[in-house]
Amino acid sequence: MNSLLLTGGRVIDPANRFDAVADVLVRDGKIAAIGPQTAAHTPGDAETMDVRGLIVCPGLIDLHAHLREPGQTAKETIATGTAAAARGGFTSVVCMPNTTPAIDNSGTVALIHDIAAEQGAVNVFITGAITKNIAGEELAPIGSLKKAGVVAISDDGHCVQNNELMRRALEYARMFDLPVMDHCQDYSLVSDGVMHEGYWSTALGLRGWPAAGEEMIVARNILLAQTTGAHVHCQHLSAIGSVQLLREAKKRGVPISGEACPHHFTLTDAAIAGSDKFWEADGKGISGFPAGGLARSTWPAYDTNFKMNPPLRTARDREAVLKGLEDGTIDIICSDHAPHCDYEKEVEFDYAPFGITGFESELALALMQLYHSKRLSLSGLIEKFTVAPARLLRLKKGTLSVDADADITVFDPDREWQFDNSACASKSLNSPFDGWTLKGQTIATIVKGRKVWVKQAEVARV
Ligand SMILES: [Zn+2]
Repeated sequence: MNSLLLTGGRVIDPANRFDAVADVLVRDGKIAAIGPQTAAHTPGDAETMDVRGLIVCPGLIDLHAHLREPGQTAKETIATGTAAAARGGFTSVVCMPNTTPAIDNSGTVALIHDIAAEQGAVNVFITGAITKNIAGEELAPIGSLKKAGVVAISDDGHCVQNNELMRRALEYARMFDLPVMDHCQDYSLVSDGVMHEGYWSTALGLRGWPAAGEEMIVARNILLAQTTGAHVHCQHLSAIGSVQLLREAKKRGVPISGEACPHHFTLTDAAIAGSDKFWEADGKGISGFPAGGLARSTWPAYDTNFKMNPPLRTARDREAVLKGLEDGTIDIICSDHAPHCDYEKEVEFDYAPFGITGFESELALALMQLYHSKRLSLSGLIEKFTVAPARLLRLKKGTLSVDADADITVFDPDREWQFDNSACASKSLNSPFDGWTLKGQTIATIVKGRKVWVKQAEVARV
């Protein structure tokens, strides 16, 4: 296999506390050397990529995505989803089990492994279901899912309501050394809510999804993690109370962790009342808007691309999620990439499915809200996309150590660009950030030494 030498970039590898301008040599799909040692090891025929002025870091990992295959390939396929991930700078994605059929048996796991090996642009890791058909009634065969290669279990999109069943799931998961990831939603409290319950749901006449509907299950998970000793990872946290509960539980050493998505720490429920209301009410809370003069996008009220589960919440909730990321309460950033077809989203707000695409805007929004706003260092931000998810799921990824897989992301944290849904690699166009000016862009994505995405004009090659 060919060798590849990345020259002159600022290499940031939080796992090794490394942050310096250095060359990186890749050989046979592995990291061969970093820094001064590269000169001695570089073969004469090595390809060189000049990455001066750019950040070079371990390949980003998105541990929460819906690739929709098998069964919902009108929305996305493993091929298109992983192509979108590559453009977003992700070298590994973790797919959720709410496919058709659900990933609740080893056959479906094997099928996805096969398709991903053949058509995936990036590494695909798989979560198995907690319960059969994600119905919340009977445990899935957790042991055989583990044997088939899942890295965690989750009923994402749904939430096990029966606490006794959840307890048993945690006990099994602990036995098989699998983390449990939970979509936190109390059905009796949330009922048929479609947006955050508060001022704007009342003003817009939409049914409310109260913050307590999430917080209740976060509290339940903390208690059950304590009871069983199993690790519970709370997915896409959106509410103040969830962050507070997690912070307090972590202090006591409960085996619990959490993740947050860019839409929850960028947007608020005012966005559902339209762009005028949003920019006036809460848009000032976004890094670069309006002080930096970035162009403001516009959208109508009741735009279904702002409908997701859990919903966008208030500016205070947004601030709590940002604080949680800043102080380490929330360990991981992920997209909850959830593609849906146009015809499914182009209906009344009440009837539209929950979810938005996320791979291609995720890094930029995280940079804007956490790095450019001076809440986190670049290293602190990269950690939440690399070593933190790798550690949770025990993946041999997320570092640039010598001999590690050569999964590498190269990005420019300062580049401004316009996000355009129609230019995305995803099969679906349901992002609320269409037309937004974003700051920070992926320049190259390298998986096991192979360039799977390069922004052509940007990198001078020798
Ligand atoms: Zn979910």
